[in-house]
Amino acid sequence: MPGRVITVNRRAHTGWMERLYVPAIVKGLWVTSRHFFHNLRGFMSGKRTAFVVQYPEERVDYPDAFRGMPVLVQLANGEPKCVACGLCEFACPTDCITIVPGELSDSGIERFPEAFDIDMSRCMFCGLCEEACPEEAIVMSREVELATFDRGSMTFHKKELLVPEALLRRRLEFIRREYDRDHGVPARSSSETPS
Ligand code: SF4
Ligand code: SF4
Repeated sequence: MPGRVITVNRRAHTGWMERLYVPAIVKGLWVTSRHFFHNLRGFMSGKRTAFVVQYPEERVDYPDAFRGMPVLVQLANGEPKCVACGLCEFACPTDCITIVPGELSDSGIERFPEAFDIDMSRCMFCGLCEEACPEEAIVMSREVELATFDRGSMTFHKKELLVPEALLRRRLEFIRREYDRDHGVPARSSSETPS
């Protein structure tokens, strides 16, 4: 629903009643009380009258455009889709990605990430790594619950970053639409990845 625009005439003449502010305060209290008792009645009767999420027991289904922490796409054989090209590392404005590439000679691909770390304490969920990746190997997930007392544990390693491709389907379809990508190139199969 589009928002309503109310133009306030600041030059309007105000009488002594308005300048007292009492009627406006009473009106504000009336509106607040009305909503309070309306919601209280709904709560007592067990009927929801307002949009309230009883977190953490209840969770909202975030829209596809939502950007949680970046994760690595995991192929069916358990390996990352990433080819360690380093573009996401280069694009990251906070330098929170660290990749150690490994080389393969007996495989359909030449490089894979031996190590892939993201320091989530520095990540600002901007999505530039996702946008830069030519392989759709790093995407923004819906995960945002990263609070911890220990800053050291905020560095996520490759194993913790891997999420099966099937669970990221909605986001992958969204970024294809969003970035207008033409996927004429057939997807790399699991047999082409390192084991
Ligand atoms: S979301 Fe932004 S800050 Fe976080 S790793 Fe990706 S590029 Fe870096
Ligand atoms: S996640 Fe994508 S951009 Fe980053 S190194 Fe891997 S293939 Fe390259």
